Amino acid sequence: MAQIRTLLDLCRRRGFLYQSAEIYGGLRGAYDYGPLGVEMKKNILNSWWQRNVYSRDDVVGIDTSILTPHPVLKASGHVDEFTDLLVDCTLTKERFRPDKAPQVTLDKNGHLPITAPDKETAQQWKKSIGEQFAPNVLVTVEGKRLLLHVDHVVEPVKGHAGKIVFKMNNEQAAFELNYHGYVEPNTNSPFLTDSRPFNLMFKTFLDPIDPIDRVIQTTMNQAGESKPTVREEVDKVLKPSTVYLRPETAQGVFVNFEQVVRTMKTKPPFGIAQVGKSFRNEIRLEHGIFRTPEFEQLELEYFVAPWEAKHFYKYWREQRYKWWLEHATHPENFRQRDHESDEMAHYATGCTDVEYLYPWGWGEVEGVAHRGNYDLTQHIKNTGANFEIVDEKPSISPDVEGEIDLIPKETPARYIPHVVESSCGLNRAMLAYLCDAFHQVEEGKGKPVRNVLKLHPRLAPIKCAVMPLTGKEEFIPLTKKVAKSLRRMGWYTVVESQKLKIGKRYYRHDEIGTPWCVTVDYQSLEDDTVTIRDRDTGLQERVHWKQVQTFIGDKLME
Ligand code: ATP
Repeated sequence: MAQIRTLLDLCRRRGFLYQSAEIYGGLRGAYDYGPLGVEMKKNILNSWWQRNVYSRDDVVGIDTSILTPHPVLKASGHVDEFTDLLVDCTLTKERFRPDKAPQVTLDKNGHLPITAPDKETAQQWKKSIGEQFAPNVLVTVEGKRLLLHVDHVVEPVKGHAGKIVFKMNNEQAAFELNYHGYVEPNTNSPFLTDSRPFNLMFKTFLDPIDPIDRVIQTTMNQAGESKPTVREEVDKVLKPSTVYLRPETAQGVFVNFEQVVRTMKTKPPFGIAQVGKSFRNEIRLEHGIFRTPEFEQLELEYFVAPWEAKHFYKYWREQRYKWWLEHATHPENFRQRDHESDEMAHYATGCTDVEYLYPWGWGEVEGVAHRGNYDLTQHIKNTGANFEIVDEKPSISPDVEGEIDLIPKETPARYIPHVVESSCGLNRAMLAYLCDAFHQVEEGKGKPVRNVLKLHPRLAPIKCAVMPLTGKEEFIPLTKKVAKSLRRMGWYTVVESQKLKIGKRYYRHDEIGTPWCVTVDYQSLEDDTVTIRDRDTGLQERVHWKQVQTFIGDKLME
């Protein structure tokens, strides 16, 4: 964990990441990307787009609105299902005793007996205890409102009481501490009060007049006549103008499905790629840019015939994992993990996460999901849209697995396409690759440890730093000429003409991951050659200045 602190300090110091609105004290969970951060993010995006769109002939791009109307997300299930569990309660010192384990009698199986008021509640508790993300608890401790995150639930084992481990996050005090507490045995529920679903979507209104003012007006007009309840009025008036900041980019693709098919004259198997911001009112904001309310997604919705869905689910799991490994310095720190059936989102029939071993443990960076035809069917039901594919010559992949029954007996084949989705978090990808690239080098006794970011050259913010050996004027014309030839290729190139010693300038670029430093020296003045220094080996190669472009171009293709 010490290393992650050094890395985050590097990110702040060298212009990768800033706390948003820092001069106003910052906004929790919001980050701004500095000059180097924005380049790295763009490079990840470009590599993703290059691989998933430009290098194929079956995927097109799209860019849809972030503001999403209520009916779309009602149909997709997000309004009702996109929730975490939250518990409101007043926790007194007497009931929550970090210092004292309760005396409980374990049953004959060695389990902590908890009496649920009814069967339904008992099942809900059981499910919550089994889930990785248990409910969060909003508590009042000594008059202060605090949000306790249930970090994990330890199931009771023989001789020990079960315990709930809370993580406490106090926004005002800006500190975090772990609370290991025990629930008093006389508490009926392991979570103190009943849990209620908390929707993760940000809601706003597309209405020039504040909808609440409309409600008040209507209620006043009707008072004494129909006496409508305020709640009913609020719902009635707010619904038509309610919009959400989209919680995923995917729905924009689904609602445009017919338009894309019509305008691009395409048919399954084909994909629609979209890159953009999504928003989730996350209860638990954690690990810097790992979990934030505003984040970017790189999503590919790949539409296929039902009998080919399993085949393409397997295909895209492999393709996407390969992409992640290609940019990794330590591929052993990436893995794929299949979801358990009770872990999947409401729309998915299969899901595999790509995970990275962050300093705090494995964390999801991308989900590849078999969404079936859930979303398209929902939008058909709600709008009557025509998403049916009529295929005169249905394609059948040679290795259609276990889906033989779905192959059409007659032509033309008619079906609602199934979707294989890959959804990558751009910010999490950046954090994963920064952690993966971060190295510390010991130069020898008495010398300070220095940082090196061994980023894949395609992801490195600056591709090349061109520098004169010293501040002498005679080195400048060739330095500028080399930089110009690299900039012409669209590579972010900087000229380092500061008065620092050359070694220090190299080290400054090692720290931000610049893969190559080109130096114009005395020999350059005689024979037009320059040196190219490799970040990871420190070795230098001498080439004619006109060859630098090809040298870097070839390396970037590797
Ligand atoms: P988690 O379980 O970590 O909350 P999720 O399963 O809800 O993630 P998905 O809905 O599958 O995430 O979203 C696809 C990708 O979007 C994730 O793999 C992740 O990289 C990214 N992502 C999701 N939520 C956030 C967030 N709050 N902040 C940053 N990235 C996110």
